[in-house]
Amino acid sequence: MAILEILHFPDPRLREITTPVTQFDAALSSFIDDMFETMYDAPGVGLASTQVGDTRRLAVMDCSDDKSQPIVMCNPRILWTEEAETVDEGCLSVPDHYDRVTRYRRLRFAAEDRDGTPYEMGAEDLLAQCVQHELAHLDGGLYIDKLSRLKRQRIRRKLAKAARRAEETS
Ligand code: ZN
Repeated sequence: MAILEILHFPDPRLREITTPVTQFDAALSSFIDDMFETMYDAPGVGLASTQVGDTRRLAVMDCSDDKSQPIVMCNPRILWTEEAETVDEGCLSVPDHYDRVTRYRRLRFAAEDRDGTPYEMGAEDLLAQCVQHELAHLDGGLYIDKLSRLKRQRIRRKLAKAARRAEETS
């Protein structure tokens, strides 16, 4: 297994729109293992393919406290949602920033697992938020797209400064 590089906003690869996973093989499975390892190492509760420079339509999640509920979503789609609420959100591709966004509290989604077996699952609270967040990534979206343009520019400047600092000290 390997830790993959997580791309940071405003990397243009985060804007790629993914294409359906059609090949469910050992290579895919091994990529999924790498995504889990990368997500747990970060640490985060979800990771989408576009965040590591891949354009297959898949994401991994684990919202448990003890890494006990890994979920693979290949070709996910949301079936229904209910009850919008405002929640705090962050993203591994937008380090050190959190903001308030509107998400549905409950939903049901359909996806395929790493073998291509279709399943459906209900989700609420953090897991529901995570599903919405990861699906947005798969269409080239970031949660900060929901914020004002001014706020996004401020985040962009802050991250550029942090990247420069990291370069200077390396
Ligand atoms: Zn994210």
